[in-house]
Amino acid sequence: MIKTEKIFHLKSSRGWKVRVVREHYLREHVPCHSSLCQAGCDNDGKLLSEDVTHYVFPDVGVVVDYQEVLEFRELRGVVFTQTACHAVQHSKGRRQYNRLRALLKDPRHDCVLFANEFQKNAYCSRQKGESQDIWHSRCVHSAAVWYHDHLAGVKPVVMITEDASAVAQYSSLHSGIYIVSMQEYLQNFWPELKAAQDLYCSVSQALQVKESEGTEREYTEHLPSEVLEAGVKSGRYIQGTLNVNKHRAQNEAFVRLEGSSNKNTDLNSDVLVSGGKSRNRAVHGDMVVVELLPRSEWRGRVTALSEGQGEDKLPESTQSQPMPTGRVVGILQRNWRDYVVTFPPKEETQSRNSRRILATPWDQRIPKIRISTQQADALQDHRVVVRIDSWESTSLYPNGHSVRVLGRAGELETEVQTILIENCVHVLPFSEAQLREMPANSPEKPWQADTAGRRDLRESHLVFSIDPRGCEDVDDTLSVRSLPGGERLELGVHIADVTHFVREGSLTDLEARSRATTYYLADRRYDMLPAVLSADLCSLLGGVDRYAMSVLWELDARTLAVHKVWYGRTLIRSSYQLHYELAQALLNGEPAQVPELMQLDPDQRDAKLAQLTEALEMLTHVARHLRAQRDRGGALELEGVEVRAQLDEDKNITALVPRQPLEVHETVAECMIHANHWVARKIQESFPQQSLLRHHPPPRQEFFCELVDCAKARGFTINTRSNKDLAESLDQAVDPKDPLVNRLLRVMATQAMSNALYFSTGSIPQDQYYHYGLALDRYTHFTSPIRRYADVVVHRLLTAAISLDQGSDPSKTLASNKELEVMAKHINKKNQAAQRTQKLSTELFQCLYFKDKDPLTDPCCVADAVVYSIRTNGFLVFIPQYGLKGAVYVKNREGQVVSARPGGACEWQSGSVHRYPDRISTVCSAGTITFSLFQHITVRISVQPSRCHSDSLHLEVLSNTPHHSPEPTDLPGPQPQGRTHLVQEVVRLAEEASQQAQEKAAQGNRLSREERAFRQTKGPNLYSLLEEVRELALMDPQACGDGGGGSGLSGEAGCISSA
Ligand SMILES: [Zn+2]
Repeated sequence: MIKTEKIFHLKSSRGWKVRVVREHYLREHVPCHSSLCQAGCDNDGKLLSEDVTHYVFPDVGVVVDYQEVLEFRELRGVVFTQTACHAVQHSKGRRQYNRLRALLKDPRHDCVLFANEFQKNAYCSRQKGESQDIWHSRCVHSAAVWYHDHLAGVKPVVMITEDASAVAQYSSLHSGIYIVSMQEYLQNFWPELKAAQDLYCSVSQALQVKESEGTEREYTEHLPSEVLEAGVKSGRYIQGTLNVNKHRAQNEAFVRLEGSSNKNTDLNSDVLVSGGKSRNRAVHGDMVVVELLPRSEWRGRVTALSEGQGEDKLPESTQSQPMPTGRVVGILQRNWRDYVVTFPPKEETQSRNSRRILATPWDQRIPKIRISTQQADALQDHRVVVRIDSWESTSLYPNGHSVRVLGRAGELETEVQTILIENCVHVLPFSEAQLREMPANSPEKPWQADTAGRRDLRESHLVFSIDPRGCEDVDDTLSVRSLPGGERLELGVHIADVTHFVREGSLTDLEARSRATTYYLADRRYDMLPAVLSADLCSLLGGVDRYAMSVLWELDARTLAVHKVWYGRTLIRSSYQLHYELAQALLNGEPAQVPELMQLDPDQRDAKLAQLTEALEMLTHVARHLRAQRDRGGALELEGVEVRAQLDEDKNITALVPRQPLEVHETVAECMIHANHWVARKIQESFPQQSLLRHHPPPRQEFFCELVDCAKARGFTINTRSNKDLAESLDQAVDPKDPLVNRLLRVMATQAMSNALYFSTGSIPQDQYYHYGLALDRYTHFTSPIRRYADVVVHRLLTAAISLDQGSDPSKTLASNKELEVMAKHINKKNQAAQRTQKLSTELFQCLYFKDKDPLTDPCCVADAVVYSIRTNGFLVFIPQYGLKGAVYVKNREGQVVSARPGGACEWQSGSVHRYPDRISTVCSAGTITFSLFQHITVRISVQPSRCHSDSLHLEVLSNTPHHSPEPTDLPGPQPQGRTHLVQEVVRLAEEASQQAQEKAAQGNRLSREERAFRQTKGPNLYSLLEEVRELALMDPQACGDGGGGSGLSGEAGCISSA
């Protein structure tokens, strides 16, 4: 080893130059991380593949400026030098450096780090007077030469550099080493990769413009990070996340305090940041540091309506009590992501310098972004993905560059992609490398089951599945039987053994982990696992051998008390693949055709049918008992309104259809809840500090105020002290004349709930494991490993728990509590993104449904609505026919109020508004008109188009009397059975799958094997949930208890704001 010195010139955040001298050791052996190595390198971890035409060494400048281009997974055989990585670390900061490290670690990217500065023969020391850039290029070139020679010249090496003099200097020095510019490289080596070339152009334009930046200061400079950190420590400053109020994005933002990091303990509210200068270039989501203004400068949040809604005429004050108000003095961490923006129409761009365009982000909370482009003409009215590069104090707006073009605004595909990107949902087709991990299963080489290490249930157990019609991914099956002697019953839940096929750490596993869930949109879905697993080998199809993870309970035949539980891997063969309607028909004793029995002679058939029916009856009996048990504990029956959209082949919505649940839905759901609960107990007892569970925290009492007040207005008392009290009082709150009252109260109860969340058992005390909605002390997700990654983790934990019972100690190979907590947070975040995406795509389709209809003539646009919440300037309604909710204003932009006309019709006149707890009235010369809670009224639905943001629905009151549609619509009545979240999920899947099946049938032929494996499910297949309901609470966390941002509809002062 040779000792030498390495000299750095660092730039501090205040711009000082610092000279740092470090001892530096050179070695003979530095691993090359290439699978072509013949020199015996100690190569562990990721290896560069050999099936590439060349290896590529990006120069320092290329890595620093064009890292995002190098992030394309299609670019393979990339060697990042240590020199380049250090440069990124020193000149680009933590965010980009972390991205580079993640890239190097990610096995889906064919790139490695070569520690060239430790390699004796590759290292170059800096010469006297040599500029840093020239030295860097020399280092990278030297590394490329060493690498090429180290691999005995078997692979050509390309060095890419933006420095023309380096191209000239090194080009002819070594055979086998090619020096090209980035642009040439992309054009010659990756001509097909148009997206990378576009991105390169857009980044390089942004870089050029940056050089010609002005010098006049628009904002105060940010303080250096050490000053910020010290200030937060001493209590002088406050640290938190910036939350921009969507309805007043220009002016109002709040800093949500980060509990532990703040010394200023007098503060218990958010800090208001008012106006752009005080916000000082912070963007929604950034981690900022604020300084409080003197008390005399504190302001209140604006409680009136958004712009143009006649705020000055409101009876209430327009500002709340003054609250702590501050200004941003620095930013600890930028939280920028990819943003979708809309390019302005031509007339707006012509007058300005056409190379710099101000584009408007789809997300109202994000400021306009200045984009340098030569394509301004081509991109007008297009939606484009952009990234922010910088926001200097001399620039009124942040500067950014375009990444890719999504398409024309308003087109379906553009809008769906917009929703995905805005929620950070990135789903690429599964790569070839991932698909190579899949087990072979073809007619020539069928997949063979193996009984080793598994309990064989094929002969002993009657196993069957109950799923939506046409379901392909069957991840759960059931069995139930009397044990010999008649004293005991045995209930079995058998779940697809996904972890047998998806090894921990494999590419498929990593991809599934990063997706974390299957994404359901109104018209498509993006699967978590490739179809060969989800629709075939993992799917517990009828009549074939399949691997399962099973839970078997021995129950007392009379009391149904659990005596014994067995967990383990099994081999099953499902006898019947039933669908819900068929199972319910068998239970009801109705004549039904079971396809599996069609071929048998009548005697045999009757015997088998009797056996199956008996099993279904036994199952129903057990499920009713389980449900009753949970009810005694306080399980909640919550209500969501589900309506599905029927799409035709061109994805036009032809009808919105409410759905009907069957008891058998609940039976299946109850068995799944039971399995999830028992698996939660098992893993938590085996690994008390490192198990993945799911809890549902009790709601904050104040969120129930609206529910309690509403019920009171109708003469009901809702007791919210415990889940049991709540469940019982909700059951009492029934108006025999209007079943909607009870449903709406349940919807409100649902909305008061917080979200259920995954967590690691070591990170919170055990009394917080409780699942409030299900009334269970421990709960997890085990039953859907095909479409939820949490279940995959839980399957691995259960496998480890089983081997612990068998004497081995697997706890060392398990994820630690800390790792598991990180994972839980990731999955929670992705689930929220999945919910938001689903909600937004549903709203998109709602707007599409009404868009082509003329609200003045089309009877579809007039509907009956029920008032369920009163606000200062209007009220919220629910429209049962379409299952949608929205705001109705009684005062318009001109300050006019809704007034009554003879015959119950409404029109606008000048007048005043009076709000009471349970009603709102307008008074004008024509008289008084009142809208009360739960009153049925008539509204007109129209679409409010938006160029830069999403369209929204506009509701307008036509009359304060009920609307009777010409044809009576088939409304779902009061539900006789309690419904749980799982039922709803099951119902939802039923709809999806049946629709999918119908469409497949319509298409005639099935997809080829290859198509099935390679494409994402993207056909027009699914349903649309018009009012999304999830496990208890679907609310976007921002919508309830939003202390700062102030979501419009839950507005603190009870106002409705229009977007
Ligand atoms: Zn080597």
